[in-house]
Amino acid sequence: MTRTSSSASVAASDVAGHESGYVEPRTQCPHLPSSPFPAMHASEYPSMGTPCGSCGSLQENWVCLICHTVECGRYVNGHMLVHSMTADHAIAISQSDLSIWCFKCDAYLDAQAIPELQPVFALMHRMKFGEEPPLLHLSDAAISMC
Ligand SMILES: [Zn+2]
Ligand SMILES: [Zn+2]
Ligand SMILES: [Zn+2]
Repeated sequence: MTRTSSSASVAASDVAGHESGYVEPRTQCPHLPSSPFPAMHASEYPSMGTPCGSCGSLQENWVCLICHTVECGRYVNGHMLVHSMTADHAIAISQSDLSIWCFKCDAYLDAQAIPELQPVFALMHRMKFGEEPPLLHLSDAAISMC
């Protein structure tokens, strides 16, 4: 009578690992300015196609939401990252796809879920596409006019 007592307690090791590239946009960010973003008029924003202020690149530029400077993204020369550190301005919006990035959270911010970001997102959308963003959920206060 052979009795094997080898316990089969080999821990199921994490084979998969979580390496998916997609990161949920944050719905909160502690780095938003306490006062509303300044300048909610298109004339005060750099027009679409403004070159990077540091290298003149026209690719994948970002607009700093604090001071409206235009700098290129990480896949170009990363000048918006430099700006975020030197100027301590954490939040920028992409001119190419209107995504909003917080350099301190190191994450995208959900413009639809963060009330402070909705006006600037809508403004940029109007500048880029000439129309209101289709899915913007305005706060109840702004909608209660029926
Ligand atoms: Zn640049
Ligand atoms: Zn700035
Ligand atoms: Zn943040």
